[in-house]
Amino acid sequence: MLFKITVLGDGGVGKTALTVQFTMSSFVETYDPTIEDCYRKQWVVDDQPCLLEVLDTAGQEEYTALRDQWIRDGEGFLIVYSITSRPTFERVERIVERVLRVKEDESQSSYHPYSHQPQSPYSQQPQSASASQQRRRTPIVIVGNKKDQYHSREVSTDEGSSLARSLGCDFYEASAKTNTNVESGFKSLVRQIKVN
Ligand code: GDP
Ligand code: MG
Repeated sequence: MLFKITVLGDGGVGKTALTVQFTMSSFVETYDPTIEDCYRKQWVVDDQPCLLEVLDTAGQEEYTALRDQWIRDGEGFLIVYSITSRPTFERVERIVERVLRVKEDESQSSYHPYSHQPQSPYSQQPQSASASQQRRRTPIVIVGNKKDQYHSREVSTDEGSSLARSLGCDFYEASAKTNTNVESGFKSLVRQIKVN
């Protein structure tokens, strides 16, 4: 089974580092904000083999159309901020809202890119898919990265988890550097996509 995951978040928060740590078990120190790539990983979740396709996005926040295409291409979303940067945390809510809006538009059109999957009950009545229904069926995990840099922390764990709770998303603090909780976010997404 194929799972398409899109990693979103401000530049420098560790999207590439988390993706590379997850798919290749190594930590990238160098920072190139322009690199965008798709990574694949064979994985077993709950005794079931699966193939993950992880799209590591980069910059270009101003090109909304391009960003919307990233969202359309994904089934699950890892939305990353850095616990050492409050502005990156403050961007999270808008990114979540954007994902939900694009997914809602998609479900209201007749275009079903993942039609090989069982249809969810909501797709029978696309007109009534409200934002809250969309929230429940769009798998999103919020990740507060750079947990190892606790001395430079600008966002508390409580703030992260209450934002996630208010948005109906799963939440982890992680470190790509020390490989802490990196798999947890991806695993949660796979499980959420499966039940959809
Ligand atoms: P992106 O723009 O979101 O893809 O960010 P990168 O993955 O390129 O990371 C930006 C910088 O932060 C790089 O120098 C990384 O080495 C560093 N970085 C990423 N994740 C972590 C982490 O968990 N801990 C620490 N200490 N540094 C990190
Ligand atoms: Mg990057």
